[in-house]
Amino acid sequence: MKRTGILFFPAFDWSLGDSHPEREERLLYTQEQLFEEGILDLPQVKQFSPRIASLHEALRAQALFPNPEAHKGSLDAHLIAAGSAILLGEARVRGDIDNGFVLARPPGHHSGATVWGNRGFCTLNNEAILVNQLRARFGIKKIAIVDTDVHHGDGTQDIFYHDPNVFYISLHQDGRTLYPGSGFVKEKGGPNAWNQTLNIPLPPGTGDEGYHYVLENWVLPRLQAFAPELIINSAGQDNHFTDPLASMNLTANGYGRITELLKPDLAVLEGGYSIEGALPYVNLAILLALAGEDYHHVREPQKLDRPVLKLGELKPYLDELKIQQQTSKPSFITQNKAFFPKGNWIYSPRSVYYDTDGLEETRHDYIRQCNHCAGTVYIESSCSSSPKKSILVRIPFQACPECEQAGYDLWDHFQHHSDGNTSVLLQNQLNDNLEVWNRKEGLREF
Ligand SMILES: [Zn+2]
Ligand SMILES: [Zn+2]
Repeated sequence: MKRTGILFFPAFDWSLGDSHPEREERLLYTQEQLFEEGILDLPQVKQFSPRIASLHEALRAQALFPNPEAHKGSLDAHLIAAGSAILLGEARVRGDIDNGFVLARPPGHHSGATVWGNRGFCTLNNEAILVNQLRARFGIKKIAIVDTDVHHGDGTQDIFYHDPNVFYISLHQDGRTLYPGSGFVKEKGGPNAWNQTLNIPLPPGTGDEGYHYVLENWVLPRLQAFAPELIINSAGQDNHFTDPLASMNLTANGYGRITELLKPDLAVLEGGYSIEGALPYVNLAILLALAGEDYHHVREPQKLDRPVLKLGELKPYLDELKIQQQTSKPSFITQNKAFFPKGNWIYSPRSVYYDTDGLEETRHDYIRQCNHCAGTVYIESSCSSSPKKSILVRIPFQACPECEQAGYDLWDHFQHHSDGNTSVLLQNQLNDNLEVWNRKEGLREF
């Protein structure tokens, strides 16, 4: 028996449209199902109420561009979803519960290190904001995020790509066949966090047996070797065989087993769009598994009557994939700007499409190579919606003195050499100091 926390935040006043798959009803049927099953009467289950995250808590994980004020009015539901994750995560770390399940929306795992709008239904990254809160407030050093949503969690990967102390693992339907089209085995982390990102793209049609095989034979050994203090599960329920957005074949029972195998300290709801046919049963099975109760009787109303990929067919694919993953070597480009502090800076360009808002972001990412810490991050970003240029300077948790100084030098440079069209966010995770500079608007602390 486990003391399990549960928190509902259905966000009834946040909507992308009545017929949109990510809609208000997503949690209603789950709530009814849990009441009906008497889950909330179990002595070990404790219900919590949501709280709102502060901008400070959000900015510690993500840069809101062109400035935090630009998102005013559209952030409330997202801040409550993130705050809900924080609330239950803190209850876990304080020892009030053994584990917990955050049943909140909107989801978050497509939202990355820089944010201009909504993509893949996500504006703020609930798990990332939670993880950095626990590191800042409780001094937790090593955390693993295991993302079992059917979509690759490209936002979470982006936020922790350079961070050797956060191990990001994602299992998802192959990006060649599904949004957002990323999450391949060669994406293994930045130069200071190489091999601290693990992507396992699975073929459409994968079912319970295949999924559990991957967990037991690949994910769990890697998790054990990393030895995290906490495991966060980005729990997306869209691998279910009735989900309208994807093509996998997991059952509610299969999800219960995933939870039993992973033993997450916290599960945070991500996607899942089979609102009546899957979500109530998948969430019930997960909750029972968390609480140490039998989940095997949980059955979704619809029968699985489409072909499931056989383990015999999946195994050769996985063997090949594992070899590709293990033999994939880093290839980084060094590129310094004239004003960069000394060091070896690794450059990578990228573009981010915000499908919900129809925006295109162009990014130039630089990371200071370092053998002692996660390294200073410098990102230049611009977006099709705005003439403004935005810059993120990150001094990471546990920064070494040189990387800390490199961050201050960059920050200082822009206070003397930038125009009113440029905004700079100093994301100082080391000192938990978050400030935005713009020549016209001056200095603002969050
Ligand atoms: Zn998803
Ligand atoms: Zn360093």
